[in-house]
Amino acid sequence: MPPVDVAIIGTGSIGIAVAYYLVRDHGVRRIALIDPRPPMSLTSAQSGENYRNWWPHRVMTAFTDHSIDLMERLDEASGGRLNMTRGGYALVTRRERPQDLIDALHLGYADSPGQIRLRDSEGDYIPPRRTPWQGSPSGVDVLLDRALIRRTFPAFANDIATVIHIRRAGSIDAQQMGSLMLEAIREAGGTLVRGEVKSITAGAPFRLEIATPDATTPTTLLAERIVNAAGPHLQDIASMLGEDLQVECVFQQKIAFPDTLQAVARRQPFAIDLDGQSLAWSDEDRALLASDPATRRLTEPMKGGIHCRPDGPVDGNWIKVGWAYNETPGSPHDALPVDPQFPDSVIRAVSRLQPKLAAYIGKLPRGMRHYGGFYTQTTENWPLIGPMATPGAFVAGALSGFGSMGACATGSLCAAWIAGKPVPSFATSLAPARRQDTALMAELAGLAKGTL
Ligand SMILES: Cc1cc2nc3c(=O)[nH]c(=O)nc-3n(C[C@H](O)[C@H](O)[C@H](O)COP(=O)(O)OP(=O)(O)OC[C@H]3O[C@@H](n4cnc5c(N)ncnc54)[C@H](O)[C@@H]3O)c2cc1C
Repeated sequence: MPPVDVAIIGTGSIGIAVAYYLVRDHGVRRIALIDPRPPMSLTSAQSGENYRNWWPHRVMTAFTDHSIDLMERLDEASGGRLNMTRGGYALVTRRERPQDLIDALHLGYADSPGQIRLRDSEGDYIPPRRTPWQGSPSGVDVLLDRALIRRTFPAFANDIATVIHIRRAGSIDAQQMGSLMLEAIREAGGTLVRGEVKSITAGAPFRLEIATPDATTPTTLLAERIVNAAGPHLQDIASMLGEDLQVECVFQQKIAFPDTLQAVARRQPFAIDLDGQSLAWSDEDRALLASDPATRRLTEPMKGGIHCRPDGPVDGNWIKVGWAYNETPGSPHDALPVDPQFPDSVIRAVSRLQPKLAAYIGKLPRGMRHYGGFYTQTTENWPLIGPMATPGAFVAGALSGFGSMGACATGSLCAAWIAGKPVPSFATSLAPARRQDTALMAELAGLAKGTL
């Protein structure tokens, strides 16, 4: 194989975005993207494809704002291929005026004051609309008036007392985004190598041994720089360099099905029930679930974060429902731990927020899709983007449940690190070297892990 300037390991959203911004912003042409799987087919195929700029920390807000800026530019330049919507995120709770949540909003939006609008009445509140995203409001509307909530979100349960409506949020078609980036990479001369990186010898150049489907012995590729974008296999690649990235993989699931009963309005934003709950089981079911260690937790109080949104076109009828309640790390080398109990549990949980969905308990449509993938995450749930300890090696990963929305920023930041160009000030906090910043790490240890 001819030597390359940059070898990128992994063709998920992240590896592709790094290659794209190397080509677009830095004119790097000799790029090899290596993967045994088809592009965008592992974790990136499981994404809920939601985006938002809501975080409890200004660094993550800056990171996703940067990514959304780049996605919007891509969407406009491609004539709308990203299918971006901007209905927002509706975070709901039964708590009146939840001061802790309002304080967290102020922390996240600290760099753009005046963006948080507390609404005791309708005033000039603009209700959600999915498209077009151009001209949609920014900031956050915190709806504190029950009558306004009822009028705006008639499908929500009557006990909802507060809706935090994040405005710079919605959905994208992440597969389309990957496709259009791949077209640009190929056009610039980048190549896709079908194979699995088996070993790496560090140096200048790096020497990668790749097992390709058609060769009995590994093929060698020489590369001046390498990028570890191996998703849930991030640590496998780090281990080949003798490094420990301290990431873990936690399996999360979703379901999608045609909402034939029209329980979810097509203009409804991505709705998240923030409140924990105990699932309502019959006595018989409860006893059965409690008797099995694998299902006992479903009979105990569960965390919040159940989410639901319309999927596909406005005139379609599919919806997606998810709940990232698993907290037990798994191995990406084992078979996916798909939980057959999940569809029933999640539909019960979501119907507390959207009572009409209760009609599907025990009656989920036959065409339902149940799927899942690994959140690859650091303890602080921030990504790793930037130089690894090995000179010439970079990492772009640990994007947990925000890799579709974070792909563009990750790609552009990692490409700048590789090209030796300046990066925005927030980018140093996302690089692996942040672990040497004891003050930052202590601050992050105090933040709760995201639930989505
Ligand atoms: C259920 C679920 C819902 C989600 N919802 C959202 C959402 O709504 N919004 C959002 O922004 N994000 C969401 N995410 C997160 C998002 O999907 C991920 O963060 C993102 O897809 C990660 O992309 P990646 O490129 O890092 O990993 P992947 O897509 O997993 O790609 C990694 C690639 O590396 C390859 N690889 C691994 N080892 C090797 C090797 N040795 N040699 C060569 N190649 C190798 C793999 O084959 C794979 O193709 C969700 C994730 C899950 C699981």
